[in-house]
Order: sequence, then C-alpha cells, then structure tokens
Amino acid sequence: MKLIIGGVRGTNTVAQPDFVKYGGETTSLLIESQAGGRILIDAGTGIRSLGARLAEDPGSRSVLLLITHYHLDHIVGLPSLGLLYDKEWRIKIAAQKHQEFDVESIMRRIMDKPFWPLQVSDLAASIQFESLPAAANGSPLRWDGLEIRWCPLHHPGGCTAYRIDEPATGASLVFATDVEWAESSEEEQSLLRALCVQPKPADLLLMDAQYEASEYEKFRGWGHSTWEEGLALATSLGIPRLRLIHHDPQKNDEALDRLNAEITTQAPFASLARSSEELNLSS
Ligand SMILES: [Zn+2]
Ligand SMILES: [Zn+2]
Repeated sequence: MKLIIGGVRGTNTVAQPDFVKYGGETTSLLIESQAGGRILIDAGTGIRSLGARLAEDPGSRSVLLLITHYHLDHIVGLPSLGLLYDKEWRIKIAAQKHQEFDVESIMRRIMDKPFWPLQVSDLAASIQFESLPAAANGSPLRWDGLEIRWCPLHHPGGCTAYRIDEPATGASLVFATDVEWAESSEEEQSLLRALCVQPKPADLLLMDAQYEASEYEKFRGWGHSTWEEGLALATSLGIPRLRLIHHDPQKNDEALDRLNAEITTQAPFASLARSSEELNLSS
C-alpha cells in the first residue's frame, strides 16, 4: 500500500514562495493498493494534482473519495478534480452525515449557481454517493483490496477519522485530521485509540498538529491538536510512524523547519508531513 500526500495545509491555501517546501495546498491524500484499489481522502486543493496522477494511471477507472467533514479547506478542491469531467471514470463519494448535511447535498450545494459554472447533473463521470453509518460496527467497508474503518472526532460540527487496511500485505494507516485532543471526552479519545490499534497497531498515524503546546490556549475550542499531543498518542500506542499534518497557514517553511527539527530530535519516527511525499507501507 502506498500513500501519496496531496495537501498538508490547514484552514486555507497559501501560495507564497516561502511555503513551497512543506506545501500550501489543503488536505487531500491518495492511497494505492497493490491490487489496484484507489482511495482519495478529502477534497482540499491538494486533490487537483492527485486527480491528475490518477488520470495518468493505466489502472482501473474507478476511485472512492472519502470525506472527513465539510469545512471548506477539506472540500474546496472538489470542483477542480479533473476526473469529474471525464466520462470514463466511476467515482464513489462517501462520508458520514455531519449535523443535517449529507455528502450529496453538500456537493450539490458547492457545485451550484452562483458558486460554480457547472452543476452535478452536468458532470461526465458516473458519480455515486454513500452516507456512511455512524460507526463501522466491526464490518469494514471494502474497496478493491482495501478495508475502511472510521470513528468520530471531537471538532466543531464533527469530523471522521479513517483507518485503511490492506489485508493482502498487512499494511495500515490512520488519518485523524481536524481533532481537538485536549477537548475530547474520554469516550472520544478511546474511540480514536481503538481505531489506531484494532485489528492491529497501524503502521502509520497522520494526526492534526496545527498548533504547538505553547500557543494552544489562544486557540482552545478551534478544533485542533498540538504536535506534542500527536507524539504522545503515537508513542503510547506503539505506532511506528507518525506524520503531523494540517499545518497552520501562518507558519512558513522556516517556522516549520524549526518545529520539524525539534520533533525529529525528540522522536525520529515522527515528522511534519509534506505535499507530494510518498510513503510505502507494508508490515
Ligand atoms: Zn481543516
Ligand atoms: Zn475542520
């Protein structure tokens, strides 16, 4: 199983030259299974380049897109996913309902007048929507050799963490963006811990680390964690690789380099995620 990181930035896109090392695109990931399965998670602006990669991929013309929640930084890239305009593609878009909103109503809303020139009914690709139940209840969703499990996260309006397993190789990852660990209830914390270790400890955790512990109090209630919390969680669960993600758009490459040096000195298995980074996972 391979992970390709399309976007790492939280809150909003940044495009200045001093943000290019870590990347300015907002959240989007691509997971490729050995058997040819393709899963995208989130449709931040990073999805545009991941879509272009898929279009050049000679494999199957189908992809599953999972959405963590409907904050703009996680869906704003959706209309720029080139595959939507290609009749060869079958795209399943799946997410939990957050409050009264389901994934189909959200997509119809952002691709509607006056926000976008084309509507969902104009798209050439074959698109299917799926509302995921509140929990996977032990039986994962399956997609082309990959298994998907999830749990709720503490975040304003709600958010979903996803776990992807590749049974053929034993590889696994957990993506927990947009979570405020310090404000999470014991039950919320134990659900994420369980997702990280069941059916076995994940090979990789990607975790929201928008803030540092020293600045967190200014942003309490905004829905995000610190890198120190991510490090403590991964260490306590024995997760062997950690990528911290959802970088603060106020922090340029110089600021993130300083943080990354501090993190990797403390924990060589951890680092700040970068756009275009590719990780091969196998157990
Ligand atoms: Zn976000
Ligand atoms: Zn959010």
